[in-house]
Amino acid sequence: MKRMESEVYWKAVTERDVRFDGSFVFAVATTGIFCRPSCAARRPNRANVRFFAEYAEAEACGYRSCKRCRPKSVDEADPTVAAVVQACRELEDFPEATLEQLAACVNLSAFHLQRIFKQIIGVSPKKYMEAIRMERFKDEVRGGSDVVTAMYEAGFGSSRGLYEKAAENLGMTPAVYQKGGKGMQINFAVVDCELGKMLVARTNRGICSVTFGDDTESLQHDLVAEFPNAEIAEDAEHLKNSITAISDYLAGKQKRLMLPLDLQATAFQLRVWEMLRKIPYGETRSYSEIAESLGDKKKVRAVARACATNKVALVIPCHRVIASDGKLSGYRWGITRKERLLAKEKNDSTEN
Ligand SMILES: [Zn+2]
Repeated sequence: MKRMESEVYWKAVTERDVRFDGSFVFAVATTGIFCRPSCAARRPNRANVRFFAEYAEAEACGYRSCKRCRPKSVDEADPTVAAVVQACRELEDFPEATLEQLAACVNLSAFHLQRIFKQIIGVSPKKYMEAIRMERFKDEVRGGSDVVTAMYEAGFGSSRGLYEKAAENLGMTPAVYQKGGKGMQINFAVVDCELGKMLVARTNRGICSVTFGDDTESLQHDLVAEFPNAEIAEDAEHLKNSITAISDYLAGKQKRLMLPLDLQATAFQLRVWEMLRKIPYGETRSYSEIAESLGDKKKVRAVARACATNKVALVIPCHRVIASDGKLSGYRWGITRKERLLAKEKNDSTEN
């Protein structure tokens, strides 16, 4: 039994909703008995409950009919409820179905189905469909898929919808990446800053790279190595606003930096990076504190990896994460730069 479908059934059971009698039965593992939804008996613990579309299936599994509610004696299911329940089942199998297709499946007009669905389930078919997808997405991500894979597996056909939601706190816009940045157009510029040279690159969706180095050539070389199949061009004019924002931030003139990002990320990286963005200017957190706030102390190493793979220095302030013993630990762009950044931020935040 699918999760959303049992959600609907369980609600009917807890409410002793008589309209659902005949549409399904519920069986209780601890008593070995199955009942109609409206049975007056005490509600069992949900963990012990199983749902069956037909009472014959419950019997086949060894459950006995309840003597109190006599689930086998229901003449016929309420046809309206039966149609809605059938629509729910269809949606579990085809969450991409349109309302019209769904209505055709249950021999109703789209208008009528929409109305009775809402009336009986409490939400529209569209909302119900979204809930199914969300559940699947969560399962996929829990199972270790990256966001984009999970999104497709969950039936979010395009990159709209959920990925957008998951990424919006990071200011990310959804992008379907192809190998080596194929089809991507990237503009970049290199400027001088107090940490040496800084390269800022962006696509038409957002910033995709912020790196530090000692010379322009090697920064440019690294960018090309990262996106070998992208069209890359230098364009300082295009990047003026982003560079000003980042430079002001680096100089301490701005304590917040929220630029749109265009990054390829796994769900886990997204979560870690989102956390990093919440560390206030002038403060630091340890890898284990981040792991803990993500709900899993054991993920310290994974957190460290996510920090190390950050491609946008400063915009995602991975420099604010240090080892639990207070040591600076690593920094992709050199430990000296990390040291200087932290000292400066600390100083700036105590001044004001
Ligand atoms: Zn009963």
